Amino acid sequence: MGDRYASFANSGPGHALVKRLGLPDPPRLRRDAALAGPVLLGGRPASPIRDTLTKMGVEVLDAGAPPHGALIFDASGLSDSSQLSALYEFFHPHARSLRRGGRVIVVGTAPSDCPAPRAATAQRALEGLTRSIGKEFGRGITAQLVYVAPGGDTAVESTLRFLLSGRSAYVSGQVVRVGPGNPPQPTDTARPLDGRTALVTGAARGIGAAIARTLGRDGATVIALDVPGSGDALAAVANEVRGRAVQLDLTHPGAADRLAAHLPDGVDIVVHNAGITRDRTIAKMDAAGWDTVLAVNLSAPERINDALLERGLLHDGGRIVGVSSIAGIAGNRGQTNYATSKAGVIGLVQSTAPVLIGRGITVNAVAPGFIETAMTAKMPLMLREAGRRMNSLSQGGLPVDVAETIAWLAAPGSGTVTGNIVRVCGQSLLGA
Ligand code: NAD
Repeated sequence: MGDRYASFANSGPGHALVKRLGLPDPPRLRRDAALAGPVLLGGRPASPIRDTLTKMGVEVLDAGAPPHGALIFDASGLSDSSQLSALYEFFHPHARSLRRGGRVIVVGTAPSDCPAPRAATAQRALEGLTRSIGKEFGRGITAQLVYVAPGGDTAVESTLRFLLSGRSAYVSGQVVRVGPGNPPQPTDTARPLDGRTALVTGAARGIGAAIARTLGRDGATVIALDVPGSGDALAAVANEVRGRAVQLDLTHPGAADRLAAHLPDGVDIVVHNAGITRDRTIAKMDAAGWDTVLAVNLSAPERINDALLERGLLHDGGRIVGVSSIAGIAGNRGQTNYATSKAGVIGLVQSTAPVLIGRGITVNAVAPGFIETAMTAKMPLMLREAGRRMNSLSQGGLPVDVAETIAWLAAPGSGTVTGNIVRVCGQSLLGA
């Protein structure tokens, strides 16, 4: 399952050879909670981002000698394309001196929140810049665009904290939208989910087990759900996180009722991670191969949401996080069933988020790319190698990368981050 090429490329002699031959050079990624700094902040004068960063304990510079840990440009004041040259002036002199594993963040205003077409045009242009920087800078540097709604200045903290930390190491080239409001900031940043209950489906192994561990680390009481056949593995995960195991096949006709019976006190966080593949071209696929994938990946999350909401079991201020896939964005040969289900997860997020916003419930999804799991270890060698290298970080992600992204979305401070699809794919070329 390990990435032997990456280990070789990161060894002394291996690195020299990889450089000489111009081969992919996967950087070693830092995945800890420490925030990149010092931050060189440019753009809008008197940007409120400065206060937020200072509150987070990050050193902020207006100018100063490199190296910097992060470059942040507040572009929210730009109202005309002629002003985009300010981005060139800011990034050009610092492009080479940003530290290894550094962070680039551009803050803007969503085009839909702009008062005039010219402002919307300039703000939309920021996407091209950030996605290109993600592809150019290399050395494990990530680049994101964060659109902050008017009145969302204080709500951006949890998103900045995640994007500046090592926990977002495999997230790059993304556009995140932060809504208006003033969500509560946790008193204990090490355990932001203290007092919350989280249901994680498909938690016996792979990405689901990592989600259970990560939410447990952050203080949540975890209810780990998986099929009855997963007994020992599920119990091991539940014990490890001092949570509870629920053995249930989500496609069982009575599954929603049975699940509700397991949750008499309700839940705060629901992560729809359980998912399956039955890969075949549509010409060769039998009906069961189609139905079973749609049932697990899409109909089950819909039914669970409905069951919890109808019974009042998802608390106000709750979180729903779906697990989509880049196959749901780009499509994939041999995966019409899977890609349909995962595109449906995106539809579920976009249609449900506005409905629940009044109760403070957020609905988002992550869309993983190539993640090192038992599933991807079984892929044919050449396909696996292509999956690993065809992204800006030249390597596969780890289950924990998906889990950390979900932990950010689940955090109390992310209460105005809703309706987002965040790819965890190292900026994969697929569907980019
Ligand atoms: P996995 O197969 O290792 O784990 C999936 C878990 O879901 C298993 O424990 C399985 O028993 C459980 N499950 C399946 N059907 C179920 C049902 N009917 N009821 C209850 N539980 C059920 O998969 P993984 O690689 O950890 O993937 C987790 C999620 O991430 C899936 O939704 C998958 O589609 C998505 N994803 C994975 C990758 C990747 O590279 N591994 C990429 C994109 C998306």
